[in-house]
Amino acid sequence: MANGISLGKAFGIPLRLHYSWFIVFALVTWALTVGYFPHAHPHWDMKTTILAGILTSLLFFGSVLVHELAHSIVAQAAGIKIHSITLFIFGGVSQMTEEPKQPQVEFRMALAGPATSLVIGGTFLVIYFYFANIPEFVKAISFWLGWINLVLAGFNLIPGFPLDGGRVLRSLLWWRSGELLKATRTASNIGRGVGYLFIFAGIGLIFYGSWINGLWLAFIGWFLENAAATSYRQLALLDMLKGHTVSELMTTECPTVPPQLNIERLVHEQILTSGRRCFPVMDRDRVVGLVTIHDVKSVPREQWANRTVADVMTPVQKLKSVSPDDDLTTVLRILTEHNINQVLVIKNGNLLGMVARDSLLTFIGVRSELGT
Ligand SMILES: [Zn+2]
Repeated sequence: MANGISLGKAFGIPLRLHYSWFIVFALVTWALTVGYFPHAHPHWDMKTTILAGILTSLLFFGSVLVHELAHSIVAQAAGIKIHSITLFIFGGVSQMTEEPKQPQVEFRMALAGPATSLVIGGTFLVIYFYFANIPEFVKAISFWLGWINLVLAGFNLIPGFPLDGGRVLRSLLWWRSGELLKATRTASNIGRGVGYLFIFAGIGLIFYGSWINGLWLAFIGWFLENAAATSYRQLALLDMLKGHTVSELMTTECPTVPPQLNIERLVHEQILTSGRRCFPVMDRDRVVGLVTIHDVKSVPREQWANRTVADVMTPVQKLKSVSPDDDLTTVLRILTEHNINQVLVIKNGNLLGMVARDSLLTFIGVRSELGT
């Protein structure tokens, strides 16, 4: 979700438009301008129809944004930091920096979105049904926005994770049993089932000739199935790593190199003989950085004799490190967030070892193969 346009901030939360959003904005605007409004209001001239289409589409995505803001505001009130809210091709998503730690919080957070959509939809329908003297244009827009927000609330309340309804279901199961992983498995299995149902219904619609709606439904189904399976896998992974510490996995014997060593000698005397890809750089008894094969490759071969380790290494200030007592989930988070292959293990300023991505993957692989 990194690619996109910033829309500024609301309640301290950055709002963003992902590039894929423009596709769904164009689709909705097109459906309203070419399909819905000319049919519902045939006597409108073209300018009015187009204006209504664009305005309604914008207000619809505005409603989606408010729905997401509702989730985020409740989360923030519970102390969960929200990274950003992004509108993308399948609607809106609030990116949390962490998952809720209590089921009660998740319950409130998940319900806040659909509840807000219900209120927005209800308000538009009140405008439509109870205000007689407003212009037809406003009435027409209010009618469509009223129903679509009710549909949005209803759709999101489907009890399949990671839809809001699935989160509500998970929080209730979690609340009752105290077992987050099991609750997530049930809710995401329902989510995957709903995803498959959408895919089949979409294929059915395509056979009945409604291929745009069919394709769209199948596409949403595929996205849901995928998201449900991925969220469960991620949680299962964290659960597997929880309770295991860095000291169980770190390599303690790591040959170090001095900063003034030139690249030529680093390659021939260290990398080629040891087969290691990465070396802590030590100046006397202090860690000053880390040099990897990747750094070496950035230097043209003919300069190997004139450049030193100090020229190409990542300095210690920029390195990520963990302590031997840290949880392995911390290591996984650091490796993924910064897209790096190893972290140094440092305690009281002393280098104790390293944890590499490879050994973490082996650890995970062996455990999932044994099913423990
Ligand atoms: Zn929601």
